[in-house]
Amino acid sequence: MNNYKAYAAASATSPLTHTKIPRRNPTEHDVQIEILYCGICHSDLHSVRNEWGGTKYPIVPGHEMVGRVTKVGSAVKKFAPGDLAAVGCLVGSDRTCPACREGLEQYCAKMVMTYNSPDEFTGAMTYGGYSESIVVDEHFVLRVPTNLELAGAAPLLCAGITTYSPLRHWGITKGKIVGVVGLGGLGHMGVKLAHAFGAHVVVFTTSHNKTEDALRLGADEVVVSNDSNQMQKHAGSFNFILDTVSAVHDINAYINLLSRDGNLTLVGAPEKPLEVSAFPLIMGRRSFSGSLIGGLAETQEMLDFCGKHNITADVEVIPIQKVNEAYERMLKSDVKYRFCIDMASLKSE
Ligand code: NAP
Ligand code: ZN
Repeated sequence: MNNYKAYAAASATSPLTHTKIPRRNPTEHDVQIEILYCGICHSDLHSVRNEWGGTKYPIVPGHEMVGRVTKVGSAVKKFAPGDLAAVGCLVGSDRTCPACREGLEQYCAKMVMTYNSPDEFTGAMTYGGYSESIVVDEHFVLRVPTNLELAGAAPLLCAGITTYSPLRHWGITKGKIVGVVGLGGLGHMGVKLAHAFGAHVVVFTTSHNKTEDALRLGADEVVVSNDSNQMQKHAGSFNFILDTVSAVHDINAYINLLSRDGNLTLVGAPEKPLEVSAFPLIMGRRSFSGSLIGGLAETQEMLDFCGKHNITADVEVIPIQKVNEAYERMLKSDVKYRFCIDMASLKSE
């Protein structure tokens, strides 16, 4: 066990501050990675502030990491020191259950999240990417296409895969009409990916000032969602809507925009339940579902797809000392479109 620099919160109301955390020495299947960049996901904020319940303190968030391999265990096959590598939201699963055998490790009952999961090696909780180094079994480590700019590639590990997976699952291809609700970290990746799959993309935003950006990111149309006339124009027209909103909002307004047999998938995870009315679902055999990140094979497929199409997140790179400020801005929907921490800033702590 060695100690490494990190940023942690000591309680739901404490800011993130500098600390040291233990990491295991790499065992035979492990890869140790020096973290270069880590994206800031709204899930980090929900978790730090215990909005979903179940947070254990201290918590070190961060599940969008890219970095450089520094050490590998004797049985590691995919990585060597010096390689680029990435880690997302998962660092363990039982590897034998039906979900794992199908490459859907995110639905394994024994999955180990990158942070705030019991850690069998240290006896504490797992600690995430707001840190200088991490040790992970190679099954849960991804390859980063070398043409991608690294700070923009980090958010692919959560915002990228969380939007890629449901777009693929629901068969989004050329000719489909796709809505993306909320233009934040997940939403802007949803727009880029749906556009790359050839769909006609409509963004729903509460922020008037994001219209031009939405079009630049790949949207064909932008609707300001608190304008009921604009909403009404789209009634019954969508094959698929991806809802990425982090707070409670009126979901029925979007179910009404689906065509017959259309689906709305929720990836946003507001802290309070959403009310769903029966009639918008019953009329038109519409469906409402959810989706959690993606499995390891699909995450690699997404990274390779992004490499091929040169897709990265639009990031505002910050030093780690600005992380608490970034959280406040994220709460005000003032993020364009993902904060990404330059981990070199941790060296001065
Ligand atoms: P984010 O960057 O903060 O984006 C959320 C966007 O939602 C905002 O930019 C804003 O977009 C919109 N929004 C915020 N408050 C709103 C309100 N009260 N009413 C309507 N719209 C509102 O967050 P993120 O990192 O993309 O994460 C989004 C959600 O997904 C979070 O709840 C997060 O925990 C969850 N998540 C889920 C998964 C999964 O596997 N399912 C993975 C990662 C994250 P506009 O300004 O355009 O309106
Ligand atoms: Zn995330």
